[in-house]
Parts: sequence; C-alpha cells; structure tokens
Amino acid sequence: MRTLDSIDVTNKSVLLRADLNVPFNDGVISDEGRILALLPTLNELIQKNAKSIMIVAHLGRPTSASDTRFSLHPIQKRLEVLLNTPVTLVSHEEAFAQNFNLNSIGRISLLENIRFDSRETSKDPTKRMELSRLLAAQFDVFISDGFGVVHRKQASVTEVANLLPSAVGRLIEKETSVFDSILNKPNRPYTVIMGGAKVADKLAVVKRLLNVADCLIIGGGMAYTFLHAKGFEVGRSLLDLESLSDVKDCMDQAQDRGVPILLPIDLVVAKEFSVTTESKIVDIDQVGSDWMGLDIGPKTRILFAEQIQKSATIVWNGPMGVFELDPFSAGTLAIAQAMANTDGFTVIGGGDSAAAVRKFGIDETRFSHISTGGGASLEYLEGKELPGLAAIGEK
Ligand code: AMP
Repeated sequence: MRTLDSIDVTNKSVLLRADLNVPFNDGVISDEGRILALLPTLNELIQKNAKSIMIVAHLGRPTSASDTRFSLHPIQKRLEVLLNTPVTLVSHEEAFAQNFNLNSIGRISLLENIRFDSRETSKDPTKRMELSRLLAAQFDVFISDGFGVVHRKQASVTEVANLLPSAVGRLIEKETSVFDSILNKPNRPYTVIMGGAKVADKLAVVKRLLNVADCLIIGGGMAYTFLHAKGFEVGRSLLDLESLSDVKDCMDQAQDRGVPILLPIDLVVAKEFSVTTESKIVDIDQVGSDWMGLDIGPKTRILFAEQIQKSATIVWNGPMGVFELDPFSAGTLAIAQAMANTDGFTVIGGGDSAAAVRKFGIDETRFSHISTGGGASLEYLEGKELPGLAAIGEK
C-alpha cells in the first residue's frame, strides 16, 4: 500500500478521508479517540506544506441533509482547538458548486457529513462514481486515513481513490501493521472476545475467526442466542431467533475444529432496561421468564479473565453488557482490566469497547493497541480484502 512516504503533498491540494464518527452524549462528544487518532496525519500534511487540506468524514446514519443532529459542526470546533488553527466547515452546496474556489475557504476545511449525500453509500457504483467525481474535482491528491470505513465500498473511500494519486495516512498504516502481525503470526494461544448486541452482524466473523483463533469468548447481548441454542431459558434477554440455526452451525464448526467457545455461566439480570430497575445475579440456568440479562456475572468475569491471562494474543470487540448504564458495566470493566493487566499482546477493537475503556479511565498505554475501527478490524483479521485498502493499492 502506498503511504505518506511515497506521495508528494507539498503545495498540493489534499482530499483527506477520515473516520470522525465519534459518540455523543447530550450533544457533547463523549469519546474523541477518533479525532485524536487523525492528528498525526493532519499535522504531517500541514508540516509538509500541503496547499490545502479538505477532510471528508461521516457521522451516524443521517437520512437527509436537513437532519442537523448529524452535522459535523461540533467536530469542526474540536479540530480547531486541537490543531490551534481555523478549520472551515463547508456545505455540500458550496463545495460541489461549479464556481467553488478551494483557495477561498482557508487552508484547512471539513466537508459537512458526506452521508448527507445518499450517493456516498449507494449500492449503485455509477451513483458513487458521480459523487466521487464531485469530491475529486478540486484536488491533486487523495489520502485515505479513515480506518473505520475501509471495509465499506463508499464513494469517498473507494471510488475517489481511482480518480486521484492516492496513499494511506499514518493511522491506517499503524492499524494495518498491528493487524498484519496478528493475522500472519499471532503469538499463541490467541483468544478473540466478542460482545455487543447484534449477533447476526457478527456471525460471519465468528465463523471465520474459528479458523485462526485458539479460543473464542462470547459475551454481551449476542451471547443469549448462543445460550438459547444450548438449551438455556434466557427470559426476556436479547434473542435473535432468525440467527439460531447459524449460531448452531457455528457451535458445530467450533467443536469440529476443537476451538472452545466460552459463554457466560452467570449473569446480572434485571426487570427493565434502566439504571433504577431491580437487578440480581443468577446462574445461567436460573434466569426467570420475566428477567433480562444485561451483564455477565462475577463467576463469568473470573472465567473470562483467566482465559485472557492464559493467552498470548487477545483481541476484544464489543461490550460484555450494557456498559452505558452503571449497574451493568462491571462485566465490561472486568474484561478491560484483565486486558490491561496481562503481559499478552492486547488489541481493543474500536467502537464501543474503545469507548468503554476510555469511560472507565484506564490508562490507554496499558493496551498494545486501541483500534479506531470495529468492523474494519474484525474483517481485516478474518483475512478479507478490504475495498478501501485495495483501492489504494501500490500505484
Ligand atoms: P454492537 O453495536 O452490536 O457492538 O452493540 C453494542 C451495544 O450492545 C452497546 O450499546 C451495549 O449496551 C449493548 N449490549 C451489550 N450487552 C447487552 C445485553 N446483554 N443486552 C442488551 N444490549 C446489550
């Protein structure tokens, strides 16, 4: 892959794809990890005297341009503070107008949420190409540094790379070198921990990881479909019955390959999805029909922590419970602490697990790597070719 070392940006106008899809709490950025992760590339472009830099990024899944909840305005403000320099927020109307003059908007700019234009994520390549032509029009060079989006075929990630001399930025370079080392030669035992809510999204990944990992730990909301498949009554816990046969397949595959799948053995169950609800700890065979599991229990925390301790490589993606609500955050905290305390090579997949680690205030240097890309890191570890990286290539 071409990197910043092999492309000339001096006096060039640079289009920079970033992943600035940060979480918000009451309108305030609650985890700015992804913004901070872009700074090395941005600062290098500034130092190398790029003539102008326009950052392209998305936030959430807006359905129309008028949905101002998804404006990048708060991110522009934060970038100005972090860079200590003005950053202009540019609307699509302005940037895609015939008479748009890049020199008139200041050296560093941020294009408003690229997903305000539905062509960005269109399944139709001609639509994506249309948008990428508009994006590329004013620029000499494309730098791709949004690791969290390289697994997506999207106009500002893939198509635009075919229109301009392209390279990846320092963040993608760092992320891929960490994941390459695990993909090619993981120190063993190699344990993958999966959590979060959406079992259907993650099953394909789980199946492929069975080929490479020595042990799989499954917690969080996705564990209940696995527990149900094993015959446990999970009450009102999250359950994805449509994925049940896939889950059974997955467990059969794991057995054939001799890869253990560790599931929760006890749970924190609650009456409702709220902070003030009644809750209790039960063994997995004691979940009443009107209770829902919202976190792993204390015995499970020990079981999972012991496996982490025994492993030489540990990759973790997805919370063990509803960590956003304090009464159900202990399981996710226990995993984060076990990872922080082990000597193994520890990687936190992006998204919620990274946000959880920062929320708990654990020193980030105690992990080998905190990725900015959740889905992208898992797909990379499956050994899949990611379209956003393939598009950069060696040219
Ligand atoms: P995902 O986007 O699939 O990684 O899911 C992340 C979300 O899963 C977080 O917002 C968690 O609150 C949620 N989650 C984790 N465990 C549970 C659970 N036991 N029940 C419901 N939601 C959960």
